[in-house]
Amino acid sequence: MKQRRRDLAAINKQGLVNMESNYCYGEGGAGTYSDGKLYTRSNKRGDVNQVLEIFVQHGATEDILIDARPHIGTNKLPQIITAIRETILEAGAEVLFDRKVTDLILSSGKIKGVVVNGEEQVMADAVILATGHSARDIYELLHRKNILVEAKPFALGVRIEHPQAIIDAAQYHCDVRSPFLPPANYSLVEQVEERGVFSFCMCPGGIIAPCATYKEEIVVNGWSPSRRNNPFANSGTVVQINLNDVPGTDPLRMMNFQAEIEKTAFRLGGGDLVAPAQRMVDFVENRLSVDLPKNSYLPGTKSAMLRDTLPDFVFTSLQQALPRFGKKMKGYYTNEAILVGVESRSSSPVRIPRDKETYQHPQVQGLFPCAEGAGYAGGIVSAAIDGINCADAILNCQ
Ligand SMILES: Cc1cc2nc3c(=O)[nH]c(=O)nc-3n(C[C@H](O)[C@H](O)[C@H](O)COP(=O)(O)OP(=O)(O)OC[C@H]3O[C@@H](n4cnc5c(N)ncnc54)[C@H](O)[C@@H]3O)c2cc1C
Repeated sequence: MKQRRRDLAAINKQGLVNMESNYCYGEGGAGTYSDGKLYTRSNKRGDVNQVLEIFVQHGATEDILIDARPHIGTNKLPQIITAIRETILEAGAEVLFDRKVTDLILSSGKIKGVVVNGEEQVMADAVILATGHSARDIYELLHRKNILVEAKPFALGVRIEHPQAIIDAAQYHCDVRSPFLPPANYSLVEQVEERGVFSFCMCPGGIIAPCATYKEEIVVNGWSPSRRNNPFANSGTVVQINLNDVPGTDPLRMMNFQAEIEKTAFRLGGGDLVAPAQRMVDFVENRLSVDLPKNSYLPGTKSAMLRDTLPDFVFTSLQQALPRFGKKMKGYYTNEAILVGVESRSSSPVRIPRDKETYQHPQVQGLFPCAEGAGYAGGIVSAAIDGINCADAILNCQ
């Protein structure tokens, strides 16, 4: 965890990405340095309270059991993950750090184990594959081995940041937020020519995070500390991308399309994880911003035409949606807000199919595609529920 903290510092201060240890990769996965919002709509898939209780048993405050929108905060999550690891070790498990799965060991349609770091073999009758939505090497590996993967729709756009005071004034209808009120949040959605445009992962008092997992790409996301006491409010603001938006039959085409946009954003920013950015009204009126407002993205922002990195239909959908959001929420549509490109890892661009009853891949007995990277979760709690369901499925087939 200490090493990962150092790797995050290198990302933020020097724009250097360690491809194995970053905001998405490392112990606890993307959740460890996520915002820790625990609200989910996945109630039908499993027991949400069981997941919340596990967080409390490992150090989260009991408030999360009763809050309508439970939130832990990035400052508190790493200790909780360390405590969860201790419980796993006490139960007799082993954690193999610095081991990257590089191949699957298969025999007659059954999994026999995995190869790590290109040489070491770890044998197993059951393998839960939960490598997250950024593991392009794993999708490529499966495809290369003729193990079925499918293209999956996802959403793409930008992260939008306002001064928190603007959001507070809009939502609380007052000039200054009372100290008894939490920093305000919002949730906005519009249909533009039958395409969904929506805000998600809204972080009051938050920070825009550099979440690239490969060198020479820009990916942004957001987090906030438990007190949500930063002066900015950010949210992912994205446009639905459908399978027919990216022509072809290659199951990895959505992933390749996503990767190209992230690389273009990197070039537009000029390197060192500097992100291309534009003021909101300038974006809508299609002009370069003369300057950019102060913002929370630590590697730095550069004024650019974001339409040069976004597909046309994403640009025009956002262009139409943002003024409409402004009509719903007074003060939202303003040149004091900054759009930072690109918010591209909203969910996995690939699905790894599995049987509904057994949770196993239809072609590989003993392989359990799991959580967000396999296309069965969209956040911390749903990923946790899916992990529990996969573990139960393994117990049931023994
Ligand atoms: C900045 C940020 C903020 C977020 N905020 C929220 C939030 O507030 N609420 C919410 O619900 N969700 C949030 N999310 C999303 C949430 O973190 C993910 O949905 C969740 O972590 C998905 O869990 P997962 O287990 O499927 O995959 P991940 O958490 O992505 O974990 C995948 C793991 O697999 C490992 N891995 C990858 N490839 C290999 C390999 N070849 N060999 C071995 N290991 C490998 C990675 O190192 C990683 O540890 C946020 C994400 C980010 C980045």
